[in-house]
Amino acid sequence: MVCRSNVSIMDESSCSGCGLCSFVCPMRCVEMKENERGFILPAVGNNCIACGKCLADCPSINPPVSDYLDIGLVAQSGVSENLVASTGGGMHLHLANSMMALGGVSYGAAFSDEWVVEHIECHTAEEVMRCRGSKYVQSSLTNKVFASIKKNLEQNIPVLFTGLPCQTAAVKTAFGDNASLFLVDLVCHGVASPMAWRQYLSDMQFGRIESIRFRNKTYGYHMSTMRVVYESGVYSKSGRIDPYLRAFFSGIAHRKSCNECKFKGRRRYSDITLFDCGRYCELTGDNDDDLGHTSVLVNTKKGEKLLLELGKEEVVFSAIDRGMGEQLNGKMIEGCTPKHPRSDSFYSQILSNSFSSVVQSYLPIKLSDYCIEAVKGLACKTGILTFLRKAKERKLLVTKH
Ligand SMILES: Cc1cc2nc3c(=O)[nH]c(=O)nc-3n(C[C@H](O)[C@H](O)[C@H](O)COP(=O)(O)OP(=O)(O)OC[C@H]3O[C@@H](n4cnc5c(N)ncnc54)[C@H](O)[C@@H]3O)c2cc1C
Ligand code: SF4
Ligand code: SF4
Ligand code: SF4
Repeated sequence: MVCRSNVSIMDESSCSGCGLCSFVCPMRCVEMKENERGFILPAVGNNCIACGKCLADCPSINPPVSDYLDIGLVAQSGVSENLVASTGGGMHLHLANSMMALGGVSYGAAFSDEWVVEHIECHTAEEVMRCRGSKYVQSSLTNKVFASIKKNLEQNIPVLFTGLPCQTAAVKTAFGDNASLFLVDLVCHGVASPMAWRQYLSDMQFGRIESIRFRNKTYGYHMSTMRVVYESGVYSKSGRIDPYLRAFFSGIAHRKSCNECKFKGRRRYSDITLFDCGRYCELTGDNDDDLGHTSVLVNTKKGEKLLLELGKEEVVFSAIDRGMGEQLNGKMIEGCTPKHPRSDSFYSQILSNSFSSVVQSYLPIKLSDYCIEAVKGLACKTGILTFLRKAKERKLLVTKH
């Protein structure tokens, strides 16, 4: 029987998998376990005393206060190695560096040695660098992470936490408006399950992997490319033909809670919000170098303070109209990815068949896709891609002025 006083009433549609209920349970009887689709959900053990704390603190049921300040910026790192390694303008490194300069610690999503995506506590430059780059897999926020944030805050050590909106809402619920806690969220269109990611990696048989980037800038910032450096070579395929990216961008692999995400909106559960800036040229009137820019929304006075701490960091900022930035680049600030009608059947298939063959039958990669990919490679090598992009930008700028 399902007890109505604890989180066993939550399912994949209503629960984001943030893990906070497990951390707050006084009986330590909530364990986060993978469901049949590989998404983590709370499982309540027998020693539940029905105190209701897990439900009361659940951000999906009782979201914390959200904030808004009318400040919008676009940022680009001045460190070229960082721009290469990051998704957009490379803000993670600079925010984490300034936190370390204040004597604080930062938390972000990194790959483990087994290529599992998990939140880690960062004290060193190496740890900070592991968090760079968007990983399109749900990262685990364990009790260990919540406990270490708590411990640092109790010792008055400043903490910077970066995560998806459901995760920053959980950290905000847990530690409230602690003056030493700085929250950064990403605009988010959803996550795929750790199981989907495992099935993809097992299917690809890379052997020993050295590095993975979901959004490598092979053809520039505007095109997403999966790049895996492994023991005997380099795998590089764009979102058009890489099975994982194809599944992810179609929404078929998304968690059900992402289809009705409770953490959307112009008011945010963070001090600063980061997201892509695909339309830099229209927004600022400047040429886009295609190296990557990050849109930055400042939501609180604390967020403003954190940005001022970036004084010594090499970052170039342009002030923009926040509303315009949201309108041009931030479709997912308010919008949710629609539910894919074949998502359940996709997940049941990837458990017993090769990941690529399932993607091929659900989201067929056609000969024309391979042809476009080949032409893109050639157009990139010969500079035609850059020429076309600049011509489009020039046209946009002329139309604008
Ligand atoms: C799952 C996911 C969906 C996204 N959806 C959108 C979208 O729809 N529209 C949009 O404009 N932007 C989206 N983004 C944000 C965007 O991809 C960039 O992360 C953002 O522009 C910041 O780029 P950057 O170069 O400044 O960050 P980087 O310097 O590359 O740092 C990446 C940051 O993302 C965090 N991160 C990486 N993977 C995860 C993860 N799985 N879970 C939690 N945190 C993670 C890291 O901790 C780090 O702080 C998404 C990101 C993720 C991870
Ligand atoms: S009701 Fe109380 S004891 Fe039971 S799972 Fe929730 S927090 Fe734990
Ligand atoms: S949303 Fe978070 S706190 Fe709520 S039930 Fe799910 S894991 Fe627990
Ligand atoms: S879409 Fe919402 S629920 Fe899904 S991962 Fe993003 S913030 Fe969390």
